[in-house]
Amino acid sequence: MRKYGKEMLIGFVPVLILFLQFAMNVNVIPFVLLAVIVGGLIYMAKSKGHLATVGGERKGKPRPLQPLSFEEIGGQDRAKQELIEALDFLVHVDQISKFGIRPLKGILLTGPPGTGKTLLAKAAASYTDSVYLGASGSEFVEMYVGVGASRIRDLFKEARQKAAKQGKSSAVIFIDEIDVIGGKRDGGQQREYDQTLNQLLTELDGIHTSDSPRILLIGATNRKEMLDGALLRPGRFDRHIAVDLPDKKGREHILNLHARNKPIDADDVNLEKIAEESFGFSGAQLESVMNEAAIYAMRENGDTISQRHLSMAIDKVMMGERTDREATNEERERVALHELGHAIAAELVRPGSVSQVALLPRGGALGYVRHNPQQDKYLYTKVFLESQIMIALGGAAAEEMFYGERSTGSRGDFEQAMNIVRSMVESGLTELGIIDGSMMTPDKWATVTGDILNGLMQRTKYMLEAHRSVFLSALDVLIREETLSGDRFRSLLQELTAGRGEAIAQ
Ligand code: ATP
Repeated sequence: MRKYGKEMLIGFVPVLILFLQFAMNVNVIPFVLLAVIVGGLIYMAKSKGHLATVGGERKGKPRPLQPLSFEEIGGQDRAKQELIEALDFLVHVDQISKFGIRPLKGILLTGPPGTGKTLLAKAAASYTDSVYLGASGSEFVEMYVGVGASRIRDLFKEARQKAAKQGKSSAVIFIDEIDVIGGKRDGGQQREYDQTLNQLLTELDGIHTSDSPRILLIGATNRKEMLDGALLRPGRFDRHIAVDLPDKKGREHILNLHARNKPIDADDVNLEKIAEESFGFSGAQLESVMNEAAIYAMRENGDTISQRHLSMAIDKVMMGERTDREATNEERERVALHELGHAIAAELVRPGSVSQVALLPRGGALGYVRHNPQQDKYLYTKVFLESQIMIALGGAAAEEMFYGERSTGSRGDFEQAMNIVRSMVESGLTELGIIDGSMMTPDKWATVTGDILNGLMQRTKYMLEAHRSVFLSALDVLIREETLSGDRFRSLLQELTAGRGEAIAQ
């Protein structure tokens, strides 16, 4: 009976209204209007209550902490050490208060995406035996003024409650993408962001040594320069730790960590070589390489993951998945010559540096050359950068040599070359000497870039022209085999050049 009460009421009310109006001749209009107004008010009150609870809660649910130790984070030795030193302040709390040291309130992790900042924050929570709460800056962005600020308040409240409930004496709050709420305050349009940031500063200022539970805020960003000065000053984010892309040793460590739960063919796989070939990869990309390699092995119904699977996985992560784009024979030939242009130029200016030449459509490209950096480099000389530009221009130079004109396939190469020129100009490595790049007009930039690139294009063409016959013989092999490993390509070049009595070196 109760179950159908609402339906019965809906049916009964109109009948009653009609009965009163027509049978009893009662004017029901004022009653109906009154009922509509009262109903409307009740509905509004209800939906406001609903909004209040939605606004009061953070959008994301607190993520449960997976206990994670620093040992499970590869590379990042310096970042880990700095972080552990900072966390010791939290662990040895008695000494801290004895020496009157103010509590560590915030740690800022800065670095590119996927380098392990979230992992470091989780490991920090485990190391200090704290509860962990994670959120992202974008969760605090709301159109309504004050909602973001109240979410910050709730986050800190939730951390305290959770710590108390679990009997822990400290809590780690991690806010990823903190630049979204911690950007510079301009007092203008972004009033809502300002309020959210003000609330965050208030919460940080409210942290005291004697507090229980103690709260540590860890923020992560890859745009530190965007952050408001108030956040960065001592007493707020006290420690700034750079979490950079891993070096070769770090990459090998990360690969080893992610290989632990995978059936690796120990006789075949050389992770040091994979670490060498994955220069510039972040931890997240390395994890993806291991994962993709496992997928390739599974698809082939193999029992173990081999070096070939890992090599294919690097290509996939670097260039994107293979596509089914059907190129015409003419296009394939042009692409092959273009890629040979890059590869031969690379072997001429930096012998031993090609790790693969491929004539396979992948991502947006119809072919590609993978280079092997041999050694991680952080400082570049003018000669090195010029040779880098020549390798990038090699593709277009080859097309000009064999077809008399270029194609749209060189667009990405030119972009890469122009970026290198820009960094050469800004580092004072050009004939302009030491200059402030921001003071240069677009016209001046165009002239300088044009001069440098045209000069290097001439040199590249001259260098490749001397090996014209090598192109023609290698072309057949590449079209037939589609992928040539670095070693195969080099021995092919040796064969082809030995016949002509010349060495493949400049
Ligand atoms: P973002 O700034 O994009 O949030 P992040 O720096 O916080 O990135 P994480 O979320 O910590 O990156 O890393 C993503 C994934 O990449 C991890 O779950 C892990 O699998 C892998 N990873 C990243 N860095 C490392 C590392 N140093 N050691 C082991 N695995 C790593």
